[in-house]
Amino acid sequence: MKAKSFKHAFVDSIPSTLQEGIIYVSLKHKIAAHLCACGCGHRIDTPLDPEEWKLTYDGETISLWPSIGNWDLPCRSHYFITNNKAIPVVRKHNKWLLF
Ligand SMILES: [Zn+2]
Repeated sequence: MKAKSFKHAFVDSIPSTLQEGIIYVSLKHKIAAHLCACGCGHRIDTPLDPEEWKLTYDGETISLWPSIGNWDLPCRSHYFITNNKAIPVVRKHNKWLLF
């Protein structure tokens, strides 16, 4: 899985059909949503909440913290969304690597 670029869209409500490669952010509903960065097409909802995800917007790009771990999906992808890029996390020799 390579780093994949996203665009972001600030919306009132998250649309029911998401477009690949866009992170939708609804401040009104305190949620962000995107389609899994691996390309499997699963929708990932990330509630914005001190106990869940934190969204950072630097005026040009957004970042989400902590990482997105899709353990429940068949793809089991795990990545950070940093500055509109999905950066995969790969586990090797019991160490978590970022690249
Ligand atoms: Zn996936």
